[in-house]
Amino acid sequence: MKRLQAFKFELRPTGEQQRQMRRFAGSCRFVFNKALALQKERYEQGEKKLGYAGLCKELTAWRNGPDTAWLSDAPVHPLQQTLKDLERAYANFFAKCAAFPRFKKKGMSDNIRYPDPKQIKIDQDNSRLFLPKLGWVRYHKSRDVEGVLRNVTVSFSGGKWFISIQTEREVEQPTHPATSIVGVDMGVANFAALSTGEITAPVDAFKRHTQRLARYQRAMSRKQKFSRNWTKAKAHVQKLHTRIGNIRRDHLHKLSTMLSKNHAAIVIEDLQVRNMARSASGTVEQPGRNVRAKAGLNRSILDQGWFEFRRQLEYKQAWRGGIVVAVNPHNTSRTCPACGHVAKENRTTQSRFECVACGYTAHADVNAACNILAAGHAVMACGGDVSPYLHLGVGKAAPMKQEPAEATHAV
Ligand SMILES: [Zn+2]
Repeated sequence: MKRLQAFKFELRPTGEQQRQMRRFAGSCRFVFNKALALQKERYEQGEKKLGYAGLCKELTAWRNGPDTAWLSDAPVHPLQQTLKDLERAYANFFAKCAAFPRFKKKGMSDNIRYPDPKQIKIDQDNSRLFLPKLGWVRYHKSRDVEGVLRNVTVSFSGGKWFISIQTEREVEQPTHPATSIVGVDMGVANFAALSTGEITAPVDAFKRHTQRLARYQRAMSRKQKFSRNWTKAKAHVQKLHTRIGNIRRDHLHKLSTMLSKNHAAIVIEDLQVRNMARSASGTVEQPGRNVRAKAGLNRSILDQGWFEFRRQLEYKQAWRGGIVVAVNPHNTSRTCPACGHVAKENRTTQSRFECVACGYTAHADVNAACNILAAGHAVMACGGDVSPYLHLGVGKAAPMKQEPAEATHAV
């Protein structure tokens, strides 16, 4: 089995290397924006869109032209990669997966991707790697890089430079050490409830830090834009954002690792977070109902990173030889496991489940997790879709999570 893995480290560049990387990232942004402007211009004049090869020809002309000759100071492959990114942005737009490509601003996903492994060397013993036009750059080595190098990406985030090293290696097809199967209900009041009865409290790093973030943002808005004090205030805001992101990722990784280590099969609900986030406000013709409450619920969902959580579960299970089963979320929180009665009234409060037909009681989220587990058993018995890969079909009707209204008020 082929395993693709990314190893990410913080770089320790010299001052000169930092300046170089800023310039390279700036050149990549410039090329992206210039190519996008060119495509727009061609469209307005009724000409055909240039393909990747055509754009590369333009790039060569820019690198040799008198006005933009400074572009030739940057390594050529990363510049070409930004043209590939633009191509992908257009393709996603035509496939109706994304909005029309936008111009890049400084500080917005600043990165440099080196696609050619022949130009890169890693010297792990001395914690450094060689990059074209930068020379040897040191990095904080926190672990060994395994596998054959495929490509590397240098990125800037929260005032620091990082390197992400993609490798590929052949590993034996693993067999999962456990034989158990677990159902997971992901909610707002509790991040996750397991069919085994365990409940994980939400981290909501974002919510906890919201007040401070708001204060920092107010402070920033009072400063004169682009002044020295404004730049400092902006750095504060960005640092807090980075911290929130780190806490959240750490939490998700701990939980997904724990689940993946202990269970051969993990059953989750097939939620489509993107669609949920979009659905609240509705469209101009059909404004959404209960917009404020739903927006609160959705923000909380995004805050807790369900999509990221599922992604982690899927790759971790694939590596360990386990599987992730996604089941239809319909009625999972309203069904009585004892008698099978389905009713909205079964869920009396956010945390309490009481069947109106037979009187069976349970913790509402744990009960939902048990129903999800049962649905998972059913899917596997029928030989349904148990692929460990993402299947976010475009245009597919989005299953909606049925949380009681109370949960939305609590947010
Ligand atoms: Zn019942």
